[in-house]
Amino acid sequence: MGGDCLNTGCVPSKALIRAAHTMAEISQAERFGIQADKPTVDFAKVMQRVKDVISKVEPHDSVERYSGLGVDCIQGEATIRSPWEVEVNGQVLTTRNIVIGTGARPLVPSIPGLDTVNYLTSDNVWELTEQPGKLLVLGGGPIGCELAQSFSLLGTDVTLVEMADQLLIREDADAAALVVDGLQKDGVNVLLSHKAVKFTHENGRQYVTLEQDGDEKDVEFDYVLLALGRVANTKGFGLEEIGVELTERGTVKVNDYLQTNFPNIFAVGDVAGPFQLTHAAGHQAWYAAVNALFGQFKKFRADYSVMPAGTYTSPEMARVGLNEKEAKAQASPTKWHNTVLTISTVPSLMVKITALSRF
Ligand SMILES: Cc1cc2nc3c(=O)[nH]c(=O)nc-3n(C[C@H](O)[C@H](O)[C@H](O)COP(=O)(O)OP(=O)(O)OC[C@H]3O[C@@H](n4cnc5c(N)ncnc54)[C@H](O)[C@@H]3O)c2cc1C
Repeated sequence: MGGDCLNTGCVPSKALIRAAHTMAEISQAERFGIQADKPTVDFAKVMQRVKDVISKVEPHDSVERYSGLGVDCIQGEATIRSPWEVEVNGQVLTTRNIVIGTGARPLVPSIPGLDTVNYLTSDNVWELTEQPGKLLVLGGGPIGCELAQSFSLLGTDVTLVEMADQLLIREDADAAALVVDGLQKDGVNVLLSHKAVKFTHENGRQYVTLEQDGDEKDVEFDYVLLALGRVANTKGFGLEEIGVELTERGTVKVNDYLQTNFPNIFAVGDVAGPFQLTHAAGHQAWYAAVNALFGQFKKFRADYSVMPAGTYTSPEMARVGLNEKEAKAQASPTKWHNTVLTISTVPSLMVKITALSRF
């Protein structure tokens, strides 16, 4: 229970970020007239606290809590047998509607040599008990940026590699540039426009070969953390067999009401996208549940106009609804006018609110 958010996503990552913030604060103590000895990190204890935080939040997502709310929770791997039948633990349940919420998993690319080195993903990085000396983070999305900065603040030598010329590619370039500054200030070696092309070993040491504009260089690491995006879980539980359609991005294709090509089968969360955020999954779940129950009387179109999104780097980056990049892409010069309002650029928080308003 609890899915990625509780077990391998939001909760452990934010618990690790909290430890990293503590290190950052202590290292600034002298600026504030406070004498603190040079802090040392007990990495095993940091990671144990991450696990403790998960345990503390766990009851909110437990079978007990949901059963108390009136939900029949069955734990097992489910397979859709027909648009009206789901099999789990050998039992076939019949139903008027099905909601698919199977989530996503980290993308593991086919880069030569990757299978011969110590690679981690957001699924297993939480199992580390010894602090990596040198960590290579592949991918400059929110997960890569948050974890790269945290490990660096905790004392690991971190190199963050991004193929594009900007971190956080969905975000506005000026906002992402502030995050690059923040990461570099906290000791992360940020390499933009670099592509990992192969992994090798020499004398027990591990290297990645990075390519930029035809030039190649090697970077040594102890562990590589893959943060290259997340692939929707659509295989192995009956979708192919009954013919549920997917998008080009590999997510389950849904309409504005969260219905798949089967009107009684809905999909929400990371498996449907496009947001891959916990609150977006919850938001979609409301529409899917209400449309499944009451759709024959009235259907509700999912409204994403004020979807918030936060990246918990330092500085943090948060927005509500479209950013400037998306607003420009959607704007039609004849009909729409972009209003972009930056309401705060204090160092620790930059908030841009973008609104599309009619002339
Ligand atoms: C490192 C990291 C940090 C993140 N930080 C944030 C954050 O700060 N804020 C935020 O909003 N989001 C964050 N996210 C994203 C967030 O975790 C996901 O968007 C969210 O978990 C998606 O919820 P979901 O219900 O769609 O899928 P999931 O949480 O993945 O749940 C899907 C569940 O379905 C189960 N399942 C799959 N197939 C079957 C089957 N055949 N039968 C039965 N069960 C099945 C899985 O075991 C899983 O428990 C983060 C993710 C990661 C990896």
